[in-house]
Amino acid sequence: MKKASNDVNVTNTKTLTIIKPDGMKHIDEIINMFYENGLKISSYKIEQLTDEILEEHYSHLLDKPFYPKLRNYMMSAPVAIMVLEGENAVEKLRALMGPTDATKADPDTIRGKFGTDITYNAIHGSDSDENAKIEIERFFKAKQKRI
Ligand code: UDP
Ligand code: MG
Repeated sequence: MKKASNDVNVTNTKTLTIIKPDGMKHIDEIINMFYENGLKISSYKIEQLTDEILEEHYSHLLDKPFYPKLRNYMMSAPVAIMVLEGENAVEKLRALMGPTDATKADPDTIRGKFGTDITYNAIHGSDSDENAKIEIERFFKAKQKRI
């Protein structure tokens, strides 16, 4: 059967991204990079993060010496939280972001362009399909269920 021209015949997956406080002033360029790389926004909100949600989101880092600095950074201004959809969305976004340490990131990546160091690195992206599901639930589904 002939496929419609917009039937791209791929299975899209989802990932969660957070444009961190230092990334917000570059949000238009970052969103542009998502679309140029085949990642579309399917949910979007701007929110001030709280201690409570950060302790859940960064539970694996709570006992690290840098946690207080990370917490203060993430609470320093509102952030943009989005669900992105595309082919291999998790891997695609992680590649587009670059490594955690922005000083080691390729200049074409989001962290390479807009990050400063290993803490101030402009963007978060889920690191696996399993965590993407958990993070999407955390930021977009949990509250809606309580209404
Ligand atoms: N981070 C930091 N110091 C470190 C490692 C991480 O401040 O030595 C911060 C950084 O903002 C990073 C976040 O903690 O993005 C979460 O760390 P993770 O190891 O999950 O890195 P990511 O998945 O964001 O690349
Ligand atoms: Mg991580």
